[in-house]
Amino acid sequence: MRIDLHTHSTASDGTQSPAEVIRSASEAGLDVVALTDHDSTRGWAAAEEAARSLGIAVVPGIEISCAIRNISVHLLAYLHDPSDAALLSESEHARASRTTRARRMVELLAQDYPITWADVQAQVVDDTTLGRPHIADALVARGIVRDRNEAFVDLLHSRGAYHVPHYAPDPVTAVRLVRAAGGVPILAHPFAEQRGRVVDDADIEAMIQAGLAGLEVDHRDHDPAARRHAADLAQAWGVLATGSSDYHGAGKDNRLGENLTEPVVLEQIEDQATGPITVIRS
Ligand code: AMP
Ligand code: FE
Ligand code: FE
Ligand code: ZN
Repeated sequence: MRIDLHTHSTASDGTQSPAEVIRSASEAGLDVVALTDHDSTRGWAAAEEAARSLGIAVVPGIEISCAIRNISVHLLAYLHDPSDAALLSESEHARASRTTRARRMVELLAQDYPITWADVQAQVVDDTTLGRPHIADALVARGIVRDRNEAFVDLLHSRGAYHVPHYAPDPVTAVRLVRAAGGVPILAHPFAEQRGRVVDDADIEAMIQAGLAGLEVDHRDHDPAARRHAADLAQAWGVLATGSSDYHGAGKDNRLGENLTEPVVLEQIEDQATGPITVIRS
């Protein structure tokens, strides 16, 4: 069983539509794939339809943008009720703030580079969760940088002059909201240090006390020491350890299935889910 529990579509900052992500997952030989767009479940319906026609199992999920002490924290959630009012209100707040923030970042960039808000809009499908990768795509289209990675390194980094933060709930609150919505919260790439500052063990402990179900251990942004530390923490606290690709289509080098989750871990995620949502199996 090949199980990859972290991917993105054009519902957020991936470059393939939800159906294309599921098709690519099937072609990559995956048996199970989770769609986990940033702050949005808008891709679920199309992913489900594709899953049924292709015979691959799909885990409906989301990656919730959180922040604590100005540290960005990503919380994966699986099988939560997408209509849960409290969780939906937080993710819609974050999405709205992301749009305002992207406009401000473009205003700042426009002081030094030939880029407009229309350039960014030209890069996105309707109703996506806007992120820096979309600004990166506009910078690429303008010939200002070569690719998303160069855009991040040169212009969009969280410590850079053009960076503007957006609203995000604190991770302990988000963990409680996911559980209340029947979902299973897993901390995404906890020690991905090249993205910016990361949480400390006390933050993770607080999340675990609030109901965190596990840690994403195997992820390309974790070096061997980070993987070992995450695995040790998961074992010490008796929570789950997952591995996933964080696939973004052509937007990043991450390949589907490059890290995998054990079948027994997926079983436990399914057992812990208490809401109306289940894994889609055709
Ligand atoms: P944002 O959500 O707007 O804060 O932007 C962060 C997103 O940008 C992450 O979810 C990543 O998918 C993406 N990202 C971060 N660094 C890079 C990079 N070097 N190349 C491509 N995408 C990146
Ligand atoms: Fe992303
Ligand atoms: Fe993430
Ligand atoms: Zn992700």
